[in-house]
Amino acid sequence: MTFKLAALTGAVAIALAACATIQPAAAPVAVDHHVHVHSPEILAFLPSYCSSLGRAGACPEVFLKPLTVDDLLADMDAAGVRKAWMMSTAYLAESPMMVPPRPDAAQLVHTANAFTVMQARTHPDRLAAFIGVNPLTPTALSEIARWKDDPFATGVKIHLTNSGVDLRDPADVAHLAAVFRAAGQAHMPILIHMRTRAADYGAQDVRIFLDQVLPQAAGVPVIIAHSGGWGGLDDNTWSAMQGFADALAERPELKQNLYFDLAQTFKADTSQADLTRLVAMMRRIGVDRFVPGSDWPFSGPLDGYLNGALARLPLTPTEASMVRSAQAFP
Ligand SMILES: [Zn+2]
Repeated sequence: MTFKLAALTGAVAIALAACATIQPAAAPVAVDHHVHVHSPEILAFLPSYCSSLGRAGACPEVFLKPLTVDDLLADMDAAGVRKAWMMSTAYLAESPMMVPPRPDAAQLVHTANAFTVMQARTHPDRLAAFIGVNPLTPTALSEIARWKDDPFATGVKIHLTNSGVDLRDPADVAHLAAVFRAAGQAHMPILIHMRTRAADYGAQDVRIFLDQVLPQAAGVPVIIAHSGGWGGLDDNTWSAMQGFADALAERPELKQNLYFDLAQTFKADTSQADLTRLVAMMRRIGVDRFVPGSDWPFSGPLDGYLNGALARLPLTPTEASMVRSAQAFP
């Protein structure tokens, strides 16, 4: 509980890397805020999920790889990363993309979350666990209730695309707001992949989120995955980031516990023009709001992503070291 209560302060521990004589780009990322390792039960479930008629396409090959926590830790060591936030993929079990639904889906969600929390319990200095839930199912609130007193269940991961949430449907927004409220009361920070399937997703969805959902979290840190997109920098992602920048300029108090992870926001081959535009957007929102993330294993080796691709962002040395040492809460 101490850890969760400490998180309530919402303070960003930004330990600025020592001094100007050190090459800032060489300082390793302290905390990777967004990684995944499937539980064995989810790995066994994936073939039926990936071939489900509810899915629009095949699953990427890397998604199906039986990677373990030891693989992750070895990759963190190779990149000099001290700690990673491990996002449970439990919510896949209750995705509407799974057709027909598994009769034991709720149990599978719980088992997958238990696996993730166990990894954090085993490696408390290296891993923090975020349980995964689909906010549209009753399991979301029952899972938060089951884990709220476990000190190794740090936070809650929500994936709006995978869960089929529509931010323009008031009923969906009410469900999502209830999950934010429960997580807030449980002192569990939230990492949310908030891009929906709306073809014109963007600033209008951000407004709904900021007005109706975010305040329910009652001060626990909320991290927007992929900087508001779903990986990459397309028109929808720019629109979402613009929406955040405009709203936060009007209401700076909203920034206090709000962060954006950079997981797959850019890739090794993102154009210099897009990287420059991204940095301009980061400065509008506040560079201190951005935290490193990889979406491992989608990133490939962490060294290449967090030490290679991330170093291409045209940040000043001070900004770069701020981002590399950032953690959304202690
Ligand atoms: Zn992810």
